[in-house]
Amino acid sequence: KLASREFHPEDTIVDVPTACVSEGVVHIGGNAVIMMAGPCTVETEKQLMTTAEAVRKEGAVILRGGAFKPSTSPYGFRGLGEDGLKLLAKARATFGMAVITEVMTPTDVPLVCEYADILQIGTRNMQNYMLLDAVGRTQKPVVLKRGMSATFEEWLLAAEYVLSQGNPNVILCERGIRTFEKATRNTMDISAFPLIERLSHLPIISDPSQGTGRRDLVGPMSLASIAAGTDALLIEVHPNPDEALKDGAQSLTLDQFQSLMPEAQAVARAV
Ligand code: PEP
Repeated sequence: KLASREFHPEDTIVDVPTACVSEGVVHIGGNAVIMMAGPCTVETEKQLMTTAEAVRKEGAVILRGGAFKPSTSPYGFRGLGEDGLKLLAKARATFGMAVITEVMTPTDVPLVCEYADILQIGTRNMQNYMLLDAVGRTQKPVVLKRGMSATFEEWLLAAEYVLSQGNPNVILCERGIRTFEKATRNTMDISAFPLIERLSHLPIISDPSQGTGRRDLVGPMSLASIAAGTDALLIEVHPNPDEALKDGAQSLTLDQFQSLMPEAQAVARAV
């Protein structure tokens, strides 16, 4: 299988063009732990720019932000669509960060490719095979979230869809799985990092925001993910989480993000 360690013994490194770093490119799967941060959802220009400026100042190099949002309830905020993508492009031009954002349908792939440096496939779409084929026909880096009830085998087979269409730039993302536990939104599967490293050459990153649903757990789970071997963190940050239109409970404040960065760097240096 194309995703397997046997097929490709060396680690795959996915390069993302990123203007704010001196080399002009960020390597996901290399030695450094890359920080991706930003709001769960793009809400307003001010919210996005304030967040981007703050996370960039602390060392984040990739800006996250949903424009097309999968929402469990159809009555929740579903994102600004193309207007949200335009705001992300403005933040990229201003701060030099690369942009990661979700694409939900095969039809939207060309549009999202115009704005995004990394295409995100959400947990709910991990087995949307038409979508996987469509992103596989591009050469954009793809972050493939683990389906909330997916086994490692199913997740790697989903990656196989993208790879087999000719796109080698697949990055796996552990974002918590569905268990019986209700104290957290999902259960972070920390074993994913060392286990995927054994099974596959693909980079793997961690989303402790979706993974816990609780901002008080984002820091500890970030550090645990780094210790377990994650290649990057994907973290939700909001200037005023209590007023966020989506997922405020799991969004860090700007101050909390600022405190997390040196702790993350210290753990990264230690492993
Ligand atoms: C997100 O990161 O915006 C998101 C919806 O994540 P997930 O697909 O992991 O729920």
